[in-house]
Amino acid sequence: MSPFVPHLNAQSTVVNSQNPKIASMLPLSAGIVIIGAGMAGSRFAIELARAQQQGRPENPHIHLPITLISKEPQVGYNRIMLSPVLSGDSIFEDTYLYEQSEYQQLGITVLAGISVDTIDIKQQSIELSNGQTIAYSKLVIATGSSARIIPFPNYDAKGVHVFREVADVNVLTAYAHQGKKGLVIGGGVLGLEAACALASQGADMTVVHVDSYVLNRQLDLPAAELLQAELSCRNVGLEVSAITECIAVNNQHEVCGLLLKDGRTLPADFVVMAVGVVPNITLAKNSGLTVNRGIIVDNYMHTSAANIYAIGECVELDGELFGMVAPVNQQVDTLVSVLKDARISNDGLASRNNWHPFTSKPLSLKLKVSGISAFSAGQVDFDEEEAAAIETITYQQTSINHYHCLYLRNNKLIGAVLYGEVNEGSFYSQLINSNSDIAPIKADLIFGEAYCDLEKITTDSEANGDMDNDSDLDLLSAADIVGAAS
Ligand SMILES: Cc1cc2nc3c(=O)[nH]c(=O)nc-3n(C[C@H](O)[C@H](O)[C@H](O)COP(=O)(O)OP(=O)(O)OC[C@H]3O[C@@H](n4cnc5c(N)ncnc54)[C@H](O)[C@@H]3O)c2cc1C
Repeated sequence: MSPFVPHLNAQSTVVNSQNPKIASMLPLSAGIVIIGAGMAGSRFAIELARAQQQGRPENPHIHLPITLISKEPQVGYNRIMLSPVLSGDSIFEDTYLYEQSEYQQLGITVLAGISVDTIDIKQQSIELSNGQTIAYSKLVIATGSSARIIPFPNYDAKGVHVFREVADVNVLTAYAHQGKKGLVIGGGVLGLEAACALASQGADMTVVHVDSYVLNRQLDLPAAELLQAELSCRNVGLEVSAITECIAVNNQHEVCGLLLKDGRTLPADFVVMAVGVVPNITLAKNSGLTVNRGIIVDNYMHTSAANIYAIGECVELDGELFGMVAPVNQQVDTLVSVLKDARISNDGLASRNNWHPFTSKPLSLKLKVSGISAFSAGQVDFDEEEAAAIETITYQQTSINHYHCLYLRNNKLIGAVLYGEVNEGSFYSQLINSNSDIAPIKADLIFGEAYCDLEKITTDSEANGDMDNDSDLDLLSAADIVGAAS
């Protein structure tokens, strides 16, 4: 798995921290500096540069130069694709979001394999881990999240891993190829994808889940039971209602198992913690920005400090965190609209009318394990009081493991769980998002879009556009990714 390949020319600089020329190659004028080249940072850099070029092709110098700084040596890869890379269904080289030459062609300076250590808000500058200082006119923080680590006794033992970066994929794949025995703590989406991928590569895998069934935030019990049966067919073991007490180690402080609260020890050579993520906010917090669980932003991605913006999994808006790519991409689009005329319009203020506010939308889930089709959208988990007002419509074909369940309240579709056959997921998601009164099509709804006369239904005028928008599909649930405990 190759790191980002440096290409150097007069307009653009792509350097690796190992490169001794780094100091002399940094851009001279203070421009737009982006911290983090994950899915948000890299996409923002490219989209902003494209928008700048389209806006003023005759005079490229009118725009602020863009610098993208990446702690990981690999810049701008599709993190979602790490699951198929781990299973061997894809290769890492195919996961880059953009041709590496495009950064160069667009004049973006890329510093790879180096992190930003401090932000000086007053001086409008940042300091890199090699001591270098860079001035900025506009700073964009896109530091993403880190995998959550539960500090069980011996959590720091050799053999305890997470699944977040390409570096993790390399380590985990090596265990699998040696046929080692692994335990995944957490039966959420990421945990199941990791366990199935490693099992398919030769590891002996078991998932240890604290709740009574897997994907309990996204699936209902009948769907989860079908999924669990499928896991068993794939030789992925499962321990549900299993509470981890501590990680068992040998006298070399190496993992040798997991001690459960019920007194059993499950043997293992390695452990993967897949128990949610924690936004990377330390840099912002230490710089004096307002943070809570994430970096606090408004609908235009402004932080609490002038000329500093934040996008991606590191942000918090109205108490909400964003652990999926769809909202991250929407935040990128918003910030491009805010900053694309940053120089020519006096900090963008003159073009405020062209800014597109970011607003949160409901998301849906589709599991990325080849051969398993599970889909979930909207609300599917209810407390006793809520459940009293819920109507369900269910269809099950046991012989082929198909199960569909629709959740309705006051003749509005509010949730859907599909297992086995998930093609109608997009249709149900759109109905949920559009808040449509589905009474006229209720009898046909479970059979799918082709059986429903959509002209009979009324849709919230405000949400009307959502009936045409299926861009939120193929996604995981934010609840699972962000801060989910196991
Ligand atoms: C295996 C896996 C599968 C996933 N599957 C899906 C899916 O199917 N659907 C979905 O919607 N979402 C999925 N996600 C979640 C999705 O990948 C994230 O929502 C998305 O990557 C968030 O983008 P980001 O840019 O905010 O953060 P990241 O992609 O994490 O990028 C942040 C980058 O900033 C860097 N950084 C941090 N601090 C600094 C610093 N001080 N200086 C320089 N660089 C720094 C980090 O090293 C990192 O490279 C998945 C995640 C994983 C791990």
